[in-house]
Amino acid sequence: MMSSGYSLILATDLDGTFLGGSDGDRAEFYDYLQRHRDRVLLVFVTGRDLDLVRQLYDEAGFPTPDYIIGDVGTSVTCGKTFQPLAEVQGWISDIWQNANDLVKALLNGEPGLSLQPIEPRYRVSYYYDPEVLQPSTLKKLDEAGFDAVLSADRFLDVMPKGVSKGPTLLKTLAALNLDLNNAVVAGDTLNDLSLFETGLKGVAVGNAEPKLIDRLRDMSNVYLSQKPGAAGIWEGLNYHSKTLS
Ligand SMILES: [Mg+2]
Repeated sequence: MMSSGYSLILATDLDGTFLGGSDGDRAEFYDYLQRHRDRVLLVFVTGRDLDLVRQLYDEAGFPTPDYIIGDVGTSVTCGKTFQPLAEVQGWISDIWQNANDLVKALLNGEPGLSLQPIEPRYRVSYYYDPEVLQPSTLKKLDEAGFDAVLSADRFLDVMPKGVSKGPTLLKTLAALNLDLNNAVVAGDTLNDLSLFETGLKGVAVGNAEPKLIDRLRDMSNVYLSQKPGAAGIWEGLNYHSKTLS
């Protein structure tokens, strides 16, 4: 069983965050993590699906995660066996109730939306045009009992109510019986906001989108790094290190 013997639980977004910054900065940070790997629980928290995460494993020196929270928080798998973490995955599928077709019918013909060419199981993913998207479309979703997560002025994910990166991370850490005091989250876009809203220690990397930064300014748990991507995470870890047990 998992023990609470980790000196750091790093729960990080991938694109723009863990994968962001220069190749040199990434290599240095990954090397640092690999040297402390047995004391770090590494969790990826990403919009990517499992296949797109697994492709990253091919890169030499890439730190493989202990857990992958994928699909914007709607899937949770072990980073080694790729088996779902049943307790948390069950919570998600119980809320979602196979609603994919229902959501597509509900949003059929809504202005500014087009389906992404992917078929995730526990969400529906659209591209959206920020100039065209109507508040009434989001209201319709809300009234039907779904959440919408908008990100990067481009992606709209229709989600099981109450499920997003942050709540799924908290469920995962609880299922693993881990000490939240040693957890640090990191991200760069608005779909990472729920990670920071957990109240866990956080790092927004230097390349974070302005809409995210605006929401984080008053959150005392979040460090706003000046450095992009991997270097930004590292800077934030140093900042938070004094309060890790
Ligand atoms: Mg990102």
